[in-house]
Amino acid sequence: MSEGSLNAPTRYPLNWEDPAFTDWEALNDEMERVFDICHGCRRCFNLCDSFPKLFDLIDESESGELDSVDRAAYKPVVDACTLCDMCFMVSCPYVPPHEFNIDFPHLMLRYRYAERKLGKHKDGLEAEITKTDRNGKLAAKVPGLANWASRTENKLTRPLIEKVAGVHREAALPKFHGKTLTLRAKSEVPEVNKEAPAYGRKAVIYATCFANYNNPEIGIAARKVLAHNGVETEVVYPGCCGMPQLEQGDFPKVSEKARHVSAELGSWIAKGYDVIALIPSCALMLKFEWPLILPADEGVATLSRATRDLSEYIVEIAGKEGLAEGLKPLPGGVALHLACHARAQNMGAKAAEMMRLIPEADVGVIARCSGHGGSWGVMKQNFETALKVGKPAARQAAKENKTFLASECPLAGEHLQQGIDRLGLTERPKIELASHPIELFARAYGL
Ligand code: SF4
Ligand code: SF4
Repeated sequence: MSEGSLNAPTRYPLNWEDPAFTDWEALNDEMERVFDICHGCRRCFNLCDSFPKLFDLIDESESGELDSVDRAAYKPVVDACTLCDMCFMVSCPYVPPHEFNIDFPHLMLRYRYAERKLGKHKDGLEAEITKTDRNGKLAAKVPGLANWASRTENKLTRPLIEKVAGVHREAALPKFHGKTLTLRAKSEVPEVNKEAPAYGRKAVIYATCFANYNNPEIGIAARKVLAHNGVETEVVYPGCCGMPQLEQGDFPKVSEKARHVSAELGSWIAKGYDVIALIPSCALMLKFEWPLILPADEGVATLSRATRDLSEYIVEIAGKEGLAEGLKPLPGGVALHLACHARAQNMGAKAAEMMRLIPEADVGVIARCSGHGGSWGVMKQNFETALKVGKPAARQAAKENKTFLASECPLAGEHLQQGIDRLGLTERPKIELASHPIELFARAYGL
């Protein structure tokens, strides 16, 4: 069930190869239809920067209605959408199957693809920083230099990076590692606990670009927890899921990636392995977005059925077979941010369920968007807005006053830390940031 409607939300396939999908007139008619319903509803006024932009546009128009808004002015509304999916999943009572058929984020995607197709969009700097595989491979050769150059404290390189790549000089950027997750997985193989109730399960971990290049510890912790619970794992990384390209409405590129990754993971599924995606945005792609972009592709459909989000998989084990013994309380409690793309998987708050499996769990859940929005939030023109959108979440994270802060979305965790710094508190609470709740779960196991 959608959190905003009484029916289970449905998403229709994105018919991006149909010429009608990019018919500019038809698209603008659809934008006007949807914007008019939003104008009458306004429930999403404080979710992000897109809706305030839309409502200001209407309120400041001659008639105060959409009929006097120039259609060319729709673009900033589209550009401000980070595709967090919160309006679709959390607020909107009019998502399909409701006859109003409102899927705001997918409409923004359609607009972006149409711009691309009609030559109204040229790939800019954002496209360069979202080439995660190319950048990850390059930085893995010189991780010390890459991390030195990308530190926010580096007053020499960050202004230069801002100028050349358009990345705001104060935006925290992920670190790079010479030893990627796939490399470490070859030598760091945890022993499988044959006494665990779930012994016999086999899972292939889809490393994801973030865990592979930027934070291998997430994958290492996941493997340890799974092995302790009797699950034999392999780590594979055929390539990025294409979420950064989806954000830019580049359906052809996302399709290419979906075909490639699903073929590689399909060979593991055929051998009886479950598939676990480490990062929620990537799980969302494998489970839901790819099948809507390539609805006739059997490999993509098979992968969608076999994929679990990491927290979802742990909770599934706890419910079906039961967890292995050994969890100990985590002193000080955890402020847990629910990642938007975990919520968009419509599976319930699995990270919170997982953390509550720890004895005497003290979990404060933060359900607001962090405002980061992937590559969107680090760009010079968006960083301040990203902090503004995430301010309520940062405020709550500080107020929770727990020892740990964790989000399944590692970028959101960093962004919240920066948001807390900017609150101007007289006494900034000391909070230890975990890259993913699984790291705290591994710690509770003493692994
Ligand atoms: S998907 Fe997120 S950013 Fe986009 S319009 Fe909806 S709430 Fe706003
Ligand atoms: S997306 Fe739905 S809930 Fe949000 S303003 Fe539009 S109609 Fe209302």
